[in-house]
Amino acid sequence: MKIQLAGNNFGGDWTCSVCGQEFQLDMVTAIAYDDDGDRIGDVCPACLEAGPEGMPERMRGHAEALRERASNLRAMADWMDQEADRGLIEAPTLGEWRTAVNEAYAER
Ligand SMILES: [Zn+2]
Repeated sequence: MKIQLAGNNFGGDWTCSVCGQEFQLDMVTAIAYDDDGDRIGDVCPACLEAGPEGMPERMRGHAEALRERASNLRAMADWMDQEADRGLIEAPTLGEWRTAVNEAYAER
């Protein structure tokens, strides 16, 4: 992985590709690339502060969080398949939802 600085025209919150933490984009951003030169994503100031020596630990933490998220998503996907197969869904109609929304606004 190689990280290079680049000018940036976007602002707002962003997620660090190395550690997964949110950070504020600035006029210059640090971008990580893999060995093929493909862009991985932006890197936060805390990771730059950690430097090449500290980044592996931050990456391991992010990797663990991603694995946990993937596991939760897999479980949710399995549940969705099961529910879709059962086909026993009770739900209000779109019209009932719209009526309820209109009533909620009228009660304000
Ligand atoms: Zn980071």
